[in-house]
Amino acid sequence: MSNKKTSKKDIGELLNKWGQEFTVFVPSKENGMATMSQWDGKDTSFLDWYRNTVIPPKANFFPLMEEMFSFQKDKEGYHLELPPLGKQKQLIFGIRPCDARALTILDMTFKDAYEDPYYLAKRKNAVLVGLGCTNPYDSCFCTSPGINPAESKDVDLMLIDIGDEFLIEEVTDKGKELIATASGVEAASGADEARAKEVKETAYNKVTREIDTEGIKEKLLPAFENQDYWEKVAAKCISCGICTFLCPTCYCFDINDELAKDKGARFRNWDSCAFPVYTKMPMENPREEKWRRVRQKVYHKYEFYPMLFDIIACTGCGRCTRLCPVNWDITQTLNTLPAKATA
Ligand code: SF4
Ligand code: SF4
Repeated sequence: MSNKKTSKKDIGELLNKWGQEFTVFVPSKENGMATMSQWDGKDTSFLDWYRNTVIPPKANFFPLMEEMFSFQKDKEGYHLELPPLGKQKQLIFGIRPCDARALTILDMTFKDAYEDPYYLAKRKNAVLVGLGCTNPYDSCFCTSPGINPAESKDVDLMLIDIGDEFLIEEVTDKGKELIATASGVEAASGADEARAKEVKETAYNKVTREIDTEGIKEKLLPAFENQDYWEKVAAKCISCGICTFLCPTCYCFDINDELAKDKGARFRNWDSCAFPVYTKMPMENPREEKWRRVRQKVYHKYEFYPMLFDIIACTGCGRCTRLCPVNWDITQTLNTLPAKATA
């Protein structure tokens, strides 16, 4: 299958064309923080500064706070009303391969483990246009769980920076449809393909932080009961929850009702297993000690999820290291696992 290409200067036009059918999201800065925001129809400056977002694109499908339904009480009892599900067709432009993989991982929870109507409605109507990463952070280790920062099968279209142009790979039929009627798109040449291959190799080699994922499940098992080790690992953690809130594969949520007289709404909002009050209801938190909570994060990604779905639930995006206020480092934790159950 031959790939296509488009000039970087035509990206704005392309986004506007897609904007006729989709609500387009692009990397942007809100209060100085990189996130995916609705395309304003003109600003493509993110092509120069964008490395990755602070808030992962999971927020487009599983928002920080979301109304589940509203309710009203009258003489006959309560009446429930669902919000309109899946009306918005989203196009996420510029998603990185690590974050696209994270959505594939989240699908396993929200689609396979149980069907979450709020997440699935948004996911079904969305298209993902990936943008290869050529400038990874020092904290990135996406190659360890098998991701190339400039390549993805978890998107619909994949763009690779080959200079003044982007090479476009049509990954899915949805992606093929998306590009079929776009203007300013032409067939890529052999030289373009060769350049894209080179870009992928260079990007891969730029990721120097790594963990050995070979047999990681088996390596983690004997370390589970090693309290001394986990106490040391957790010593500096302040239980702020940032590493889980901003992790693209974390999905815990809490549910609350807001009530004013006879009407109200039920919301869900992100929760974190790092919080001492996590799962306080209906019983006490089974992980009162901090070291148990830090251990949980690591085992959830590298032991429990692989047991359930045969995939590591960490994409090596590096956010949990980069954004942790005390520089806690999951790669250091995984690279220094003790071999024995007790110290
Ligand atoms: S971001 Fe750092 S300090 Fe905050 S909960 Fe995670 S490991 Fe602990
Ligand atoms: S555990 Fe850390 S590196 Fe892995 S996906 Fe989550 S935030 Fe990214």
